[in-house]
Amino acid sequence: MRSRYTGRELSAVVKSDAYGLGLEAIVPVLADAGCRSFWVNDLGEALRLKAVLPSAVLRETTVYTLFGLGGATPGDFEQAAVVPVLASLDEVWQCGGHARRSGRRMAVAIQLDTGLGRLGLTADDVDRLGGDHLAPLDIRCWVTHLAAFDCPDDPMNDRQRRMLLDLTARLPQAPVSLASSSGVFMGPDWHFDIARIGSALYGVQTSSRWQEGLVPCYRLLAPVLRVADMPAGARVGYRGTTALTRPSRIATLALGYGDGLPQGFVTAGLAFLSGEALPFVGGMAMNLTMVDVTDLLDGAVGPGTQMEILGPRQTIDSLADALGCAPNVLLTQVGAGCAHRYLGTGG
Ligand SMILES: *Cc1c(COP(=O)(O)O)cnc(C)c1O
Repeated sequence: MRSRYTGRELSAVVKSDAYGLGLEAIVPVLADAGCRSFWVNDLGEALRLKAVLPSAVLRETTVYTLFGLGGATPGDFEQAAVVPVLASLDEVWQCGGHARRSGRRMAVAIQLDTGLGRLGLTADDVDRLGGDHLAPLDIRCWVTHLAAFDCPDDPMNDRQRRMLLDLTARLPQAPVSLASSSGVFMGPDWHFDIARIGSALYGVQTSSRWQEGLVPCYRLLAPVLRVADMPAGARVGYRGTTALTRPSRIATLALGYGDGLPQGFVTAGLAFLSGEALPFVGGMAMNLTMVDVTDLLDGAVGPGTQMEILGPRQTIDSLADALGCAPNVLLTQVGAGCAHRYLGTGG
């Protein structure tokens, strides 16, 4: 992303517990890599983030909350030295009022709703915004987000970009942030001053156009609990989901929807052992799933054998379509559902 980005600053999005992968483990790695701006959802996540950074790094670091005030007060943000990305005109007024009362300018970012219809000031809000409402605010950046970030050729993107240019021309000068991961791949016209990248950090594709060079940061392994030989005609799974058509060897994995996988995973995906792709049988239960290992050599699999469920051989991106969800649905849900072991930055 560094080699692609032509703007001023690449910042990291670590919302939703760093996409389910563990904010406390990931933030120090990004800080070591030189990252000095982070985006989280709310003040609670911002405080967790700040707690894991050494004070020398913290002094140079900006933490933004994408929910805006998210129910906390301007005073809470000022005390925590966290920058809310103000989400409405009402939040602008609240922060302006707080700054006037305290006699100190308050650090904020302000979101502009250029077409996503989700958060931020609309064009009408900007018309209603007198300059004196902004005077007590120390505006760190203007933020907007593309509604069709995953479709680089969608004309909506260009409409949003032109509206952003139009709105920021009427507003006080401050750095502008538009691009998320896919915006960096869309090229310099989309880079502006600060890019907010999440998915690319974790090696997840977020565009209908293939984004070269992203490496999955994750592997999901599941241990075998039992291996059993079963005759042709035997049935496997709840209500006999699968009838075996040949004498079979079936391995039971500690893996299920309770670990964040959708139940459709057993039809969309495979299990891998030493490069061999193995089909699931018998459906998926809360924490148990069966795999047909008949074609493996004797002794290749036993209790404790780890099978690879997600990783370079079977990425989240390759499954998302078949599962009818965005790749990040899988990443956040599996991330939140499974225990994590971190292998460090050395690979
Ligand atoms: C989640 C999010 C991002 C990061 O998007 P990726 O596609 O994961 O890089 C950036 N900006 C906003 C407003 C977001 O909500």
